[in-house]
Amino acid sequence: MSYLSYINPTATSPWHTYLAQVDRVLPYLGPLARWAETLKRPKRALIVDVPIEMDDGSVQHFEGFRVQHNLSRGPGKGGVRYHPDVNLEEVMALAAWMTIKNAGVGLPYGGAKGGIRVDPKLLSNKELERMTRRYTSEIGIIIGPQRDIPAPDVNTNPQIMAWMMDTYSMNTGSTATGVVTGKPIHLGGSLGRVKATGRGVFVTGREAARRIGLKLDGARVAVQGFGNVGSAAAELFVGAGAKIVAVQDHTGTLANPRGFDMAGLMGTLHRDGGVGNFREGERIGNEAFWDVDCDIMIPAALEGQITPERANRMKAKLVLEGANGPTLPEADDVLHDRGILVVPDVICNAGGVTVSYFEWVQDFSSFFWSEDEINVRLDKIMIDALKKIWDTADHHKITLRTATFAVACERILIAREERGLYP
Ligand code: NAD
Repeated sequence: MSYLSYINPTATSPWHTYLAQVDRVLPYLGPLARWAETLKRPKRALIVDVPIEMDDGSVQHFEGFRVQHNLSRGPGKGGVRYHPDVNLEEVMALAAWMTIKNAGVGLPYGGAKGGIRVDPKLLSNKELERMTRRYTSEIGIIIGPQRDIPAPDVNTNPQIMAWMMDTYSMNTGSTATGVVTGKPIHLGGSLGRVKATGRGVFVTGREAARRIGLKLDGARVAVQGFGNVGSAAAELFVGAGAKIVAVQDHTGTLANPRGFDMAGLMGTLHRDGGVGNFREGERIGNEAFWDVDCDIMIPAALEGQITPERANRMKAKLVLEGANGPTLPEADDVLHDRGILVVPDVICNAGGVTVSYFEWVQDFSSFFWSEDEINVRLDKIMIDALKKIWDTADHHKITLRTATFAVACERILIAREERGLYP
């Protein structure tokens, strides 16, 4: 491992997790391993001050970040997160996982990520807009349709992408729809984008389940995080005959061995912004979520959730990482030893960035595809990527995570080698 002087990662921090994942892949990179240090350093990290006038006339300052981890294969691509825990090290790790993810599914992008350290629930809509616009202006010196293309992540959505696109366009003097993805449909957004990440979780999960002989019809699924990713994946699993037996979000944890009524759960989500007050099932302690009897577990909230201790208690046969970085490296080993298959984030949740790529392509050509076309292309990319990763895992007798890193790092480092070092 190698650490940079401006951060101080702990054993459970995301950057430490990422570095440990890179170290595990080094034996499979052959002569390309001589370039591996390039994966352990972000190419560029920007920290910006975001001052805004609050509705009461006071001024508040927020800390914003944009990290471009690696641009060897193309422009930076990755979401923007609004959360009180956002910090440079977390954004570095999230940017790095984008590098791996984009290469793993074969998209012509590098990896980037951004964020603001803020609890957006404490802001009015106007304050949220002013903060988004000022942040976009500040990072405007490094983003652009050919340079780095932000997208939604935790607590950001199509409206925030619309403000980002408008701000960037105002600053550059012409409408640049391709500067962000995940936009509203009539502003150059793509059909299928909102549910794409959840769909990718479902498609990779369905393929993995088939390969290990787990039937989706009647399968019991537990979902942590019932936002954009978790709720969309849950709906598709229910559509395939599975039942949601436990759900957890920031408003609480519910269990129902008979399976929740999905329409009711979605209704509560839209009404309350969370599912904690849904009338069905039993309200259980947050920690008890990890003991729930289930076949498939989908962590779709934040990183660092599956610790070795929780991994030892989990009952699932299959873990589908909707969230980025939900499993600590030591917990990965526990799951592996216990015969629990993990479809890692870097492939499992790549559906979102894949349809973001479609959106970016559509924006450049100003020609838009039908939702069916989007979904067919998405499914094919996800299925092909999983097959390649599965074959690599079989060949080297390694986990799907290390196999994804092997496939991705090879592509990134070949690009690095072919481009050569400047000057
Ligand atoms: P979101 O804001 O729509 O939802 C986040 C969910 O997590 C909410 O249900 C929230 O209640 C829950 N949550 C927050 N803190 C929690 C806690 N402490 N315990 C339990 N639940 C908690 O965000 P999202 O877009 O669904 O993103 C979820 C994860 O998926 C993140 O790790 C994100 O990086 C990853 N991801 C998102 C996308 C995308 O397209 N949105 C793409 C790839 C990966």
